[in-house]
Parts: sequence; C-alpha cells; structure tokens
Amino acid sequence: MLTILKICKPATASAYLIQQARYKSKTHWAKLKKKTGPKYKALHHFDDFYGSVFGGQWAGIREALLRRPKYVALVNNYGDTEETMEYLTNRGAHCLKNLMSIQQDFHKQYNPTLSQPESASSPKAVDSYISQLQQDEIASLYPNSENVPERLDLSDISLKAAEEETKLKEDVTPPRTLDEALEKAEIDESRIIDPSMGISSEALYQYVPATKLKGMEEWVPESLHYSYYSKGKDFPLVIEPETEFSFPEHLKVMTFEKDSEYTSFPEPKRSNTGVFNYYPMDGASVVSVLALGVAAGERALDVCAAPGGKALAALQTLLPDVLVCNDASVSRLNRMNRIFRDYLIDFESSNKWRERVVQTHSDGRNFTDDLGFDKVLVDVPCTTDRHSVMEDENNIFRSDRIRERLKIPELQSQLLVNALRLVKVGGAVVYSTCSLSPIQNDGVVHMALKHAFENHAIVATIKDLSAPFNALSSTLHVCRGPGRPQYGQLILPDITANFGPAYISRLVRVR
Ligand code: SAM
Repeated sequence: MLTILKICKPATASAYLIQQARYKSKTHWAKLKKKTGPKYKALHHFDDFYGSVFGGQWAGIREALLRRPKYVALVNNYGDTEETMEYLTNRGAHCLKNLMSIQQDFHKQYNPTLSQPESASSPKAVDSYISQLQQDEIASLYPNSENVPERLDLSDISLKAAEEETKLKEDVTPPRTLDEALEKAEIDESRIIDPSMGISSEALYQYVPATKLKGMEEWVPESLHYSYYSKGKDFPLVIEPETEFSFPEHLKVMTFEKDSEYTSFPEPKRSNTGVFNYYPMDGASVVSVLALGVAAGERALDVCAAPGGKALAALQTLLPDVLVCNDASVSRLNRMNRIFRDYLIDFESSNKWRERVVQTHSDGRNFTDDLGFDKVLVDVPCTTDRHSVMEDENNIFRSDRIRERLKIPELQSQLLVNALRLVKVGGAVVYSTCSLSPIQNDGVVHMALKHAFENHAIVATIKDLSAPFNALSSTLHVCRGPGRPQYGQLILPDITANFGPAYISRLVRVR
C-alpha cells in the first residue's frame, strides 16, 4: 500500500481510493470514476430519501425512472388534425379525453364513492374524516381564536367506516363491487395523524428524513436548511374537493394505455399548413394544464414557461384570450419561440398571435401586472428527478451546485407566493414540479400559503383533485399509497405507465 502511495502520490483521499480500486478491480478505472458522478449521487440521495417516503413502492419508481420515459401526443389543431388523430389511432393510441370519460363511467357504475367528491351538505365518511383531520389541525393552529376558518359540517362519523373508505380510494385496480372493496379494506396508518397528540401542520412533514448530502466538507443534514418548517404564525388551511373539472373540448391528446404493447410514437411530421402535426410531451405535463382549467376568454400567465410544452398545450385548448409566457432564461425563451413557430400557424407574422401570446423575460418572483390573471401556472425549477438520475450534464446534484439545490424550495415558494399575488380573487393557481420530494411539493405549498397569508393577507383554498385524477387511472399511475401528498396529486413513474414524476396542486384564491 505504501508503495502505491509513494508511486501515485494521490492528491486527495478520494483520488487515492479510486487508484486503489483501479489496481484491485478488473473493471476499467474510468468506469469506477464515473460512478461517483452527479447522476449516481442523485440516485443515492433518492435511495435514502425516497426509500423512506415511498416505502415498498420506491423500487418500482426507481426502475421506471431509469428506463425510457413514455410520451403522449398533443395533436396540433393547426395542422392535419383529423388525419393525425386517425393515423395515431391506427397505431394503437387512444384519445385521453375518451379514456377519462370511460374511467369516470366505470367508477360511477362500480364504485360510486370514487367518481365524484361529495357536496358539503352530505359529506361521506371519508370526506368527513379528512375534514376532521383538517379541523383538528386548524384547532391546533388557532388554539383560542375565533378566527378558525369555516369547515364542513362535522357529523359524528364512524372512524372505522372512514378508514375503510380511505383504503377503497387507495386500491389500484378498482374492485368490482362496493362490498368486495369493503371486505378487502385495510387501514393505511401512514396517513393517519392522531390529533390528540397535539401536533400541528408541521407533523405532516415529520416523515421527511434528514437526508444527508455529501460533497461539502461535512455531512449537512438537509432538514436544517428548511427552517420554514419551524413553527410560526398561523394561517388558514382549507382543502375542498374539486367539483369543476372538465376536459377542454378542443384539446386533443393521444396516448397508449398502461401495459399497452405500443409505447412510442413515430416522429412528428410537417403538415400541409407547414407546422408539425403533433407535439410529443410527458402525459403528466398535460395533466397540469388540465388542472389549470383555463376557460374561454381568460387571461392566463405561465410564470416559468420555457421551453413551452405546457404553454403550447394551454394554447391548444383554443380557450385563453391572452397567455403571458414568462421565463428567466433567454436561451430557454428562444427555444420556446422556436416551438411556437413550429406549432402555431403564422406565429411570427400574425397580429392575432402577437395579441394572444405575450412573451416576457423576467424573474417570476418579481413579475408585476396591473390587470390580474384568471389562471396562473407555476411550473417551477426543481430537482428534475428523472433528468438527475439519467444525465450528468446540467445536473443539479453536481457538487458545485449544492447551495443552489438547497435553495430550490425557497425559490419555488417565492415564485408561488408571487403567483398567488398575481391571480385575481376567484382565480386559480396551479403549482407543479417534476420532483418526488415532499419538501418541494407539499412543503413548498405549505410554506407559500403561510407566507402569502402572513405578509399579503392572501387566503387560498387547496382543491382536492382526487376524483378527476381517479379518472386518469387507465393511463397514469397516481400515488395512492405511502408518500401520497396532502395538498396535491403525485404522478409516479411506473414501468407500465412511465410518465412523470409530477406533482400538481391547484389553489383557488379566496381573499
Ligand atoms: N413549463 C415549462 C414547460 O412546460 O416547458 C417548463 C418549466 S421548467 C420546469 C422551469 C423553468 O423555470 C425553466 O425554464 C427556468 O428557466 C425557469 N426559471 C428558473 N428560475 C426562474 C425565475 N426565478 N423566474 C422565472 N423563471 C424561472
């Protein structure tokens, strides 16, 4: 060993270890060195962190993350639309809108409790149970206050029935009858927080482990950096079922079902009008646009729009009057502009587009506007989990980007707070990430709502999108087991439906 040390004079301990392995192993040393690169770092970090969040599901998510992702085809309304739909149908693809409506009918017929959220006047046991949890949480936030936000009427519910129904919601394959489902029902204890323990909203996140990050001089407990989890002032936290979800009439999305033998589309082609016939994108990205629920004549903002996939999907609904597409990166804005030119007919020459699509270059945290928006999409920069385990280039897990990475939740929260300020009262904000991290997902929503209330007197209700997401179950894998978020929906990569990951939370501003 001494001889090796003398000969090689390794500059650092890690270089010495690599050299040692180089001598001992039959594997080529360059390969060994590569295994310490950012994507391996990301994978190790995720194994530690997500392994404890998602439990037994993590192995499957991990495998899917490392495989080729799946895409849907966003069919272009401006080029050979019918012909393209027919062409893709002949290749085994289905229209997402039809799949959702079939699934919705299935739930209505066989499992009515899953098809629609209950109205406030007749809450079913599970809604009452969730309600009970929220009220207990609010009570712990407002121990002696009269300002407790209004909640649903809480009947004296049977906890057992509620637990059974909760389990019913978690089943991946819908049971054939309600009795069959009730028979199989088990309690998912991971989602039950006992209010008698006097824990508040912070407790929702206590399962987040203090994952450690290597690469600095010392091990840094990640949780230390998220001081916003510490107890602070109170804020109203209200979660309501979403009852107004509809699929835009003109949005044409073609997809392969889970387990389909076909998984990929051919290359898009130029249509007779000169634009491409469809845009391949992650199915989960389409869902965040669906969750935004843009209506005819609305003014919408995409705070982090580039390279423009979701903005293009929003425009393909043919609904918004104005879509402001903002981004902080010039190079990515240029990419977005190229996509718009490739997909929107006469994009550069027509006044119609100039009025409808406004591209702005600014930091979304400071973006200002006098008119207010009906809808705001905040598709934030994040740890881009799939990219992080697949590519070394531009990887946020590079050791020189640790500080940037640790600041991500703060940046995300600031972007979301500004979105809440920019949206009109009654309007909706969709917050989305392509990360599995509960910190970047529910954690950021929690922090932003708290900050918006304390500093800007803004109150927003969280819309529970469980029912519309159940209708996506033949296409996407929505998290219903351990790790299921409280404030949004999480699309999990799965080898049968390799979309995402994506977290989607819909907030409606009420004050
Ligand atoms: N929504 C885009 C789409 O569908 O193609 C993807 C958005 S990507 C996840 C995040 C974007 O946020 C990047 O384009 C990045 O340049 C932008 N970004 C990062 N920091 C920002 C900031 N402070 N303000 C505005 N945009 C920012």
